[in-house]
Amino acid sequence: MWDIIVIVIANAISLFESIFGWVLSAVAFVIDLFFLIPGLGNALKVILGTATAIVWTVVSLPDALAGLFGVRPEKRLRVCTVVLSDELGEPIADLAYVRMMLQAAATAFKHEANVRLMPSAPFQFSNGFAGEAEVTDDWIIVDKTPSTKALLDPATGGQGFVKNFGELGSQFEAKASRCCFYGSWRRIVGYGAPVTVFIVRSLERAYGHAQYEAGWVWVQNQGPRNGWPIGLLTCNLRVIAHEVNHVCGHWWHLNAGSNQENLMEVPATETPPTIEAAVARMRLNTFQILLLRASKHVTYI
Ligand SMILES: [Zn+2]
Repeated sequence: MWDIIVIVIANAISLFESIFGWVLSAVAFVIDLFFLIPGLGNALKVILGTATAIVWTVVSLPDALAGLFGVRPEKRLRVCTVVLSDELGEPIADLAYVRMMLQAAATAFKHEANVRLMPSAPFQFSNGFAGEAEVTDDWIIVDKTPSTKALLDPATGGQGFVKNFGELGSQFEAKASRCCFYGSWRRIVGYGAPVTVFIVRSLERAYGHAQYEAGWVWVQNQGPRNGWPIGLLTCNLRVIAHEVNHVCGHWWHLNAGSNQENLMEVPATETPPTIEAAVARMRLNTFQILLLRASKHVTYI
């Protein structure tokens, strides 16, 4: 019963947002301009991003308690996926490959945590009881504007974090505002904020990087342009889900040795690049499920 009430309300609000969300996002777009100031803008973004993460997690504590006892109606997690184009304006990743990574994420989050992955776009509804979302190419935005080398090959880890506090962070913020305009107001307010997934050309020593306070992730293209399907065996389809889960509050990794099938371990060996094989290695434990569901990015409406 509770499930049905939640779904009716959530879909009614989705409809309302589809019609009026543009106005809110236009206002948010102007606010976003402050975040584009290198240094100061980045600092403001950290403060706002962290504050909204804390507030919305506290608000969802009663829901987390219910979740602990197994009451977990479907929640929604919005993503805005952007494939960058290289210096010559050529998209750096093949849509089929990006779609497979998104499908692995949609399947794992739905099966593990009853969280429905959906694109940050108008007129997205769910009846709450269907299986995982079926990812289509229209989930993916190809940014045709050529990107600079700094954006195409950003660094990862601590270096990536530091680099984000400046010109680079501002440039990614500008891309998020422009390519993911529809979700702008949610990115400011934090509630149900879409996670922006940037598909970049290369990263150093990692498949992906999560920039928690900014609400975006970088995922390295491993697809056809890097020799796929010849290099199919080294194709890691877990990356989008893994990085998005970092942004949703799971900042650390689990020990790979004792958590072989967990989404938050970093496997020493690759899995065959099928969605089934990837999803089998994308399990979440109870604490991780509750943490994911309590994230500001994961909401009922
Ligand atoms: Zn990681």
